[in-house]
Amino acid sequence: MEINTEYKDFTERALQVISNPEKQEQIVLTINQHEKRVKDGLNQYDKLSVVRQRAGYLKNKVINELDRYLIEFEDNFLSNGGKVIWARDANEAKLEIKKIIKKNQITRIVKSKSMVTEEISLNQTLKNAGVEVIESDTADFIAQLAGERLNHMGTPNRVYSNEEVAELLHTKLGASEHLTSLEITEFTMEYLSEKIASAEMSITGCNFLVSDIGGIAITENESIALTTMSLPKIQLIVAGIDMLIPSMENLDLFWPLLASYQVGEPVTAYNSIITGPKKEGERVGPEELILVLIDNGRSNVLEQEKQRQSLTCIGCGACANVCPVYKLVGGATYGTTYQGPIGAIITPFMRDFDSFKHLSYASTLCGKCDAVCPVNIPLHNLLLYNRNYAVKKGFVTLGESRRIRWMTKAMSSRKLLDMPGSTLKNVFIRFSMKKSWGNQRHLPTTAPKSFNQLLKEKK
Ligand code: SF4
Repeated sequence: MEINTEYKDFTERALQVISNPEKQEQIVLTINQHEKRVKDGLNQYDKLSVVRQRAGYLKNKVINELDRYLIEFEDNFLSNGGKVIWARDANEAKLEIKKIIKKNQITRIVKSKSMVTEEISLNQTLKNAGVEVIESDTADFIAQLAGERLNHMGTPNRVYSNEEVAELLHTKLGASEHLTSLEITEFTMEYLSEKIASAEMSITGCNFLVSDIGGIAITENESIALTTMSLPKIQLIVAGIDMLIPSMENLDLFWPLLASYQVGEPVTAYNSIITGPKKEGERVGPEELILVLIDNGRSNVLEQEKQRQSLTCIGCGACANVCPVYKLVGGATYGTTYQGPIGAIITPFMRDFDSFKHLSYASTLCGKCDAVCPVNIPLHNLLLYNRNYAVKKGFVTLGESRRIRWMTKAMSSRKLLDMPGSTLKNVFIRFSMKKSWGNQRHLPTTAPKSFNQLLKEKK
């Protein structure tokens, strides 16, 4: 494969993580804890396969009729009193958000967990516009203080010890030195409450866009998103066009399913459905509710007959946590918002295929991801379709495409395959694969005689 900057950076980051025992221990510990929780969470289902089938069917239905559902959702959202802004890409979305900030003279924004805002790097834009942005989710808030990239999929980029958090709060926010864990919680809660109460605008993501009621469904365990969006006078929601489900009735399927796979619980503690801004007589809630609906490359995925199914993802992160590659290199190594098998499928189409195609090769194709996906996405097959797409579109080097052609010819003919002896075959394997196989792995060697030859001799 051609070595581009993204590929080179990915490989370098992977090598750093693999050769760092502390990092390896942290990844294994976090994933093992998660696996145990998910196992417990799934115990609530007698017939999990039926539930997964139903969830997959509903999400596929929406993706296959996306135009109809988007219009239905928009109509209902508008009649609830909300405003919709359509954005073709990240730049359009950020431009529109900057206009809202300017018009309303916003100086402080509280933001709660949102993958899509990470996808479009919104925080940096807001910072450049001179707005103070505070992440209200505690883990994100600590990561923000540390200047780390936020990660909402699979394992966190970094797990901070109490001492590290206390040090961060002391150096960045002037808290007393050496706070205990209880004092850390008290300090953080007080600090965030003050910021939430004084912010003019909130920005949140969402888990589902509910078409038949024009509603926004958000599920969480700590009520942070609920508090974040209740107080500021403007609420901005940033969502991808693929987050739709047909009906509110489907939430009794999707909410427990997501909670089981994401956090290993039968259902999360706080589940909110937002249908419009604050109405007359209501005490809390935003006066203005704006939804930015983003395509940002999703249409490129939708165009692909096979890979389209990846848009049915509900963002549980389960495929990442079972992936042997992800388990070894961790989430941050991917350098992308969406990581693990699902990220490897959609990122090349959502960004630049040539630059991110290497992610589709970062898989052993073991199929564990397919086995665990709550909406039955055939992830490992889609990774193969991505590789096929790369070859068809000429995103491989001339040497590579010649080797593939030669191999296809040889592998389709028993006679050709047996023609060279094993020594010659091993020389060919060494010559053609040494570079891509890497220095860390041993190249396989062929046996002196093939199975076919041995069988013939036995007869
Ligand atoms: S592809 Fe499936 S397992 Fe992976 S994050 Fe999406 S829903 Fe979860």
